[in-house]
Amino acid sequence: MSFKDEVAPSETDQQVLACWNSLITSNYIDDIKHLEGTSDAVFGFTIHHPLIVKEGVLALEFHENPTHALELGTQVLQEQFDKYGVRMRPVIRVVEFGPEYLRKVDDLRMRDRNKLFSFDVKLNDISHPYGWLKKAVYECRDCGTIIVKMQRRARERESPSTCRPCMFKAVDYMKDDDIPWGLFSPRPNFKMVLEECKYEDIQDISMRQITYNKDHHLIHCSTKNEIIGTVSDDLVGDLTAPDYVRVNGIVRVQPIPSRNFGKDTRRVLSIDVLSIEELPIEE
Ligand SMILES: [Zn+2]
Repeated sequence: MSFKDEVAPSETDQQVLACWNSLITSNYIDDIKHLEGTSDAVFGFTIHHPLIVKEGVLALEFHENPTHALELGTQVLQEQFDKYGVRMRPVIRVVEFGPEYLRKVDDLRMRDRNKLFSFDVKLNDISHPYGWLKKAVYECRDCGTIIVKMQRRARERESPSTCRPCMFKAVDYMKDDDIPWGLFSPRPNFKMVLEECKYEDIQDISMRQITYNKDHHLIHCSTKNEIIGTVSDDLVGDLTAPDYVRVNGIVRVQPIPSRNFGKDTRRVLSIDVLSIEELPIEE
């Protein structure tokens, strides 16, 4: 019997892992060594995009599927943190994207979803920090099997639909003619293991497009569209508004916040923020 989450990394993933390993060990080991003894729980570790561009397979995969490429990179960085006795959870903050990544908030459309862009914006407002259930852990009440369900923010919580060991047991029973059919319905019977669940700290930020000249003098702050972004982990509590910043992030499609029925099909764009860089703008 094979379970999906136990399979070895694909060939591409192995290449991406090797690229991250080469990038981190050739450029960032001194930075990692300096972190030993730091007592934060989470550390936002800056990685420069021009270095990613030099790593063939990683450059491509990062561009095509940044979320997954970052998961693999975090795995490699965590190994290096462990190796050098840095007892923090790393979060990769990629900065210094090239001008080809710059987009205007006012030009974003649904077709841009899941793409990575940079935006020069004025941070107008920052919400209070709050949390969401990122990883839910369930236990089968019948056999004790543990099932982990990664959740999506601002979506209905997902719970397991079947317990495989209980299902296989039921299938075995079905071969036995003496057992009545009424027992052959292995309904899921899970409870959530609250102490094993993982939550993520986040803040919502609202922002508007700015334009400025080459001397960083502000020309215009758009009044057309305000877009919401979400920052997590080390960035929570780290930002102030108003402020002028470059936001690097992935465009996401979210249900509208004020929906009053579950299957509302209307969607808005938002930004999952990967990193934020100060802009030295003068008004
Ligand atoms: Zn079970």
